Amino acid sequence: MTDHAIRRIVIVGGGTAGWMAAAAFTSLLDQRELEIVLVESDEIGTVGVGEATIPPLMAFNHMVGIDEDEFLEASQGTFKLGIEFVDWGAKGTRYFHPFGPHGQDYRGVQFHQFYLREAKRRPLPDIREWSMSGVAAELGRFVRPDLNSPMPLPQLGYAFHFDAGLYGQFLRRLSEQRGVQRIEGKIVDVALEPNGHVRSLTLADGRKVDGELFIDCSGFRGLLIEEKLGAGYEDWSRWLPCDRAVAVPSQLAGPPEPFTRSTARAAGWQWRIPLQHRMGNGLVYSSAHLPREDAEAELLANLEAEPLAAARHLSFTAGRRRLAWSANVVSLGLSSGFVEPLESTSIHLVQSGIAKLLALFPDKRFDPVERDEYNRQMQEVFEDVRDFIILHYKVTQRDDSDFWNTCRTMDVPDSLAAKLDLWRAKGRVFRQGRELFATASWVAVLLGQGLAPEEPEPAANAMDPDFMTNAIDQMRLSYRRTAEQMPTHADFIARNCRAGPDISF
Ligand SMILES: Cc1cc2nc3c(=O)[nH]c(=O)nc-3n(C[C@H](O)[C@H](O)[C@H](O)COP(=O)(O)OP(=O)(O)OC[C@H]3O[C@@H](n4cnc5c(N)ncnc54)[C@H](O)[C@@H]3O)c2cc1C
Repeated sequence: MTDHAIRRIVIVGGGTAGWMAAAAFTSLLDQRELEIVLVESDEIGTVGVGEATIPPLMAFNHMVGIDEDEFLEASQGTFKLGIEFVDWGAKGTRYFHPFGPHGQDYRGVQFHQFYLREAKRRPLPDIREWSMSGVAAELGRFVRPDLNSPMPLPQLGYAFHFDAGLYGQFLRRLSEQRGVQRIEGKIVDVALEPNGHVRSLTLADGRKVDGELFIDCSGFRGLLIEEKLGAGYEDWSRWLPCDRAVAVPSQLAGPPEPFTRSTARAAGWQWRIPLQHRMGNGLVYSSAHLPREDAEAELLANLEAEPLAAARHLSFTAGRRRLAWSANVVSLGLSSGFVEPLESTSIHLVQSGIAKLLALFPDKRFDPVERDEYNRQMQEVFEDVRDFIILHYKVTQRDDSDFWNTCRTMDVPDSLAAKLDLWRAKGRVFRQGRELFATASWVAVLLGQGLAPEEPEPAANAMDPDFMTNAIDQMRLSYRRTAEQMPTHADFIARNCRAGPDISF
């Protein structure tokens, strides 16, 4: 029988995407007859941002065999229980998008339906009070949930914040130890076979690197997928007008909190990501509404402590590569598309692309069925993320700037419009297929930004009201009591994954 197996994979780019791909391939493909080569250019460097993540990264760590404490120690990492949104629904408001669910569902009715009904009977605090991660974040507490612990602790969902550069170095060490060959050099030419597949890369010093499958992790430019193969880009800037970011690290003003903060500004929003050794800060903004110099000045004026480096400016266009996989090139990371980091989804999209590629891994015949299915699935996951991000801009009462007026009044994709209609009527949220964001995420943002449905669904009204009132109060108490027994986030880090003895919180 003819052996069609791929024997040589070339990864173009050594940013987070490139090294994640390398680490995953070394763990999950049979390396006895497979060479994995990664080409990166020190001169070009990496984008150097990307510090907040979402819970599925835990599955990636597990899949690749990464020890959580070891990786956090190596990357100055902290834990993340969700995102606090400030001034998004209206100026002066704040809400929390927690990881993990709200409350307990009962007899097939989702918890938020009982919450909506109860809120019609008496004033209720923010739904965050019924989230394990929400309450722990409010108290600055963290513990790794043990699935055998009594409820509600197992509901605690968490992810990580880390230094993107150190995370890349960590993955590089791991990948090189497992046999990945790293080539430093700038790619200046890409040669094609007569059938349009990439044959080899030429480096500035004349070296040639050939391969059978190429993974394009070259960043926004898409060196192979776009510049050579012209896979096309679907532009989403009519819904996501932010196209610039300015980033600057600063000193910590106190112990690192276990959550990201996103504060809406007049023409965009500011991120605040606490690490062990510093704070990551950045302003994502629309260049049509805010000049570059003003963006930098606004970011610097809103830091809580001294900046530690000069500000870095980045440009992007929200959207996705039309064909994430074309010929024998699969794009991952920024080369496959970009949705702004409001919900920290880019690294997840890398992970998702790797998992899908492994599930549809080709042989040298490159069956179009595998490629088409991959492209269909990547389109789906990108569009899900897109809709969830647009939601934050659309559902707002802010009318204090041109930027917010544009966002509030814009048309949204039909898929999102249908979701909003369902919510407005009876508070219904359905997670379709493999959608990334669960019901609790949609509920947190919709209620947090001030869009209450007209009424709860009939099944919630059918429950005995006194029973539900009591159950809701008991649940709230149990979240708080459980959180109060956890160590502080800083103590947990100090005991488990502290990056260096010189750091004191
Ligand atoms: C402002 C901003 C904030 C972000 N925040 C988050 C966040 O909080 N959470 C999150 O999940 N994601 C975030 N992201 C996204 C995240 O940074 C990226 O998804 C991630 O870093 C992956 O980048 P990459 O590896 O695709 O590209 P890059 O880091 O740009 O790496 C590209 C690589 O290709 C190499 N290369 C390019 N051209 C050549 C050439 N000619 N020859 C040789 N090598 C070449 C470069 O040297 C480099 O090694 C953010 C992105 C931006 C812009």
